Amino acid sequence: MSVTDTTQVEYETVIGLEIHVQLATVTKMFCGCTLSFGDPPNTHTCPVCLGLPGSLPVANAQAIHYGLMIGMALGSELAPRSIFHRKNYFYPDLPKGYQISQYDEPLCLGGTLGDVRIHRVHLEEDAAKLVHVGASGRLHASDASVVDFNRGGTPLAEIVTEPDLRDATIAAEWLRMLRATLRRLGVSDVNMEEGSLRCDANISIRPVGSAEYGTKTELKNMNSFRYIERGIRAEVARQTQILRDGGEVEQETLHFDPRTESITSLRSKEQAHDYRYFPEPDLTPVAITRAMLDRAAAALPELPLARAERFERDLGLSADSAHLLAFRTELGDYFEAAVGAGNGGTTVDPQVLANWIANDLMSRIGADADPAESRVAPGAFAKLVSMVGAKQVTQAGGRQVLDKLVADGGDPATIVEAEGLGAVGGSDELAPIVEAALAANPDVAEKLRGGDMKPIGVIVGHVMRETKGRADGGEVTRLVRQQLGL
Ligand code: ADP
Ligand code: MG
Ligand code: ZN
Repeated sequence: MSVTDTTQVEYETVIGLEIHVQLATVTKMFCGCTLSFGDPPNTHTCPVCLGLPGSLPVANAQAIHYGLMIGMALGSELAPRSIFHRKNYFYPDLPKGYQISQYDEPLCLGGTLGDVRIHRVHLEEDAAKLVHVGASGRLHASDASVVDFNRGGTPLAEIVTEPDLRDATIAAEWLRMLRATLRRLGVSDVNMEEGSLRCDANISIRPVGSAEYGTKTELKNMNSFRYIERGIRAEVARQTQILRDGGEVEQETLHFDPRTESITSLRSKEQAHDYRYFPEPDLTPVAITRAMLDRAAAALPELPLARAERFERDLGLSADSAHLLAFRTELGDYFEAAVGAGNGGTTVDPQVLANWIANDLMSRIGADADPAESRVAPGAFAKLVSMVGAKQVTQAGGRQVLDKLVADGGDPATIVEAEGLGAVGGSDELAPIVEAALAANPDVAEKLRGGDMKPIGVIVGHVMRETKGRADGGEVTRLVRQQLGL
């Protein structure tokens, strides 16, 4: 049969991302106005960023420096010479009638982050912000759209990936990795809600095993990781339905509404020639000097991926722990401080320390909190974990100590002493308590003797009550077996 039954075909998702990052420079891309967020509208403007005739742009050196840092972090090829182009289109937030961007000679070409290839990174200016005012939900004569030019001319780096992502969740995860990298570089606030990190997703599907890409659509400007994931899923479902019904996906630009999960068309896809790109005559080419490269290289910190690899390799952390700590810079810093404190006398297993941070500490101070701002000093934390490791205090007791540390700070050994939380560890102390527990529960003792170990929890529970949770469960079990001759 030559006709394919489209209802039977399995499809693979193909995703490429275009990410706009507002660079955290002091001034705008082509003028001396300061960047601002949340200031009264139109208080950071000048003839250049208002697009007044006769004004002349000058490229921001700090933005180029940040662009080079991003390129270096992604392993891009840095163009010795790149130029700006005018991208012409009309919109009320674009007073010049064109955006200054880069076209066929961008600042950075190629590169990778994780296993996703980077297509290019270029610099451009942000548009101003349209604000829609009007109290009524329906269109009303007093409703209006006004323009706030404070944002107009903010430096942007646009990072474009190759279509290497194959799944919505992985795309969102990868974007988190990119955000952590940019945050670590210190080149942007990377705040999706405030719009300093914005992501468009290009999406297509193709039959599994096919070597060619399908027609893509572009989902614009999703402002949270969750929406990106949900938006991609909804669009993949839409395209799958079209192909299964024997139709064709149209190349267009789409909007995803996270409230209704609906996808609507913004416009049919524009082509590059629609923009009438031409070289910006008012700006000189960006010529990268040795000194500029040296300065960018010197400014590069250890990046999250490299840090995760180091945590795995040198400290023996699991991949998951290494990833968590390396991609949350503040957690990684706290972890390293605790490991360092541990090295000065107490011994701590880095993996155990990592677990305590991820589970016990974060659940107490808040998942998004910076532990450096908590009352738990890294040294005290390392000491507590080592005391638990040495069975000077039980896991449960250790958690109580941590409660105290989170509330008041202080030294774990002092707290253990003052609160009487020290483990009833030595068998001398514990043996009589176990004996009494067995005597108090003769039926359970009988079952245990008969080889049915299920009710041992009764004995452990009894001992825990007697010791106010200060006994080590493993040690109790050992003593039970010993005393019953098992
Ligand atoms: P355009 O010329 O339409 O802007 P590009 O080739 O520049 O297209 O790619 C823009 C983005 O779309 C890139 O992130 C790229 O990875 C992605 N992309 C290209 N082709 C596809 C496809 N068939 N499916 C999904 N994403 C794609
Ligand atoms: Mg494009
Ligand atoms: Zn200005």
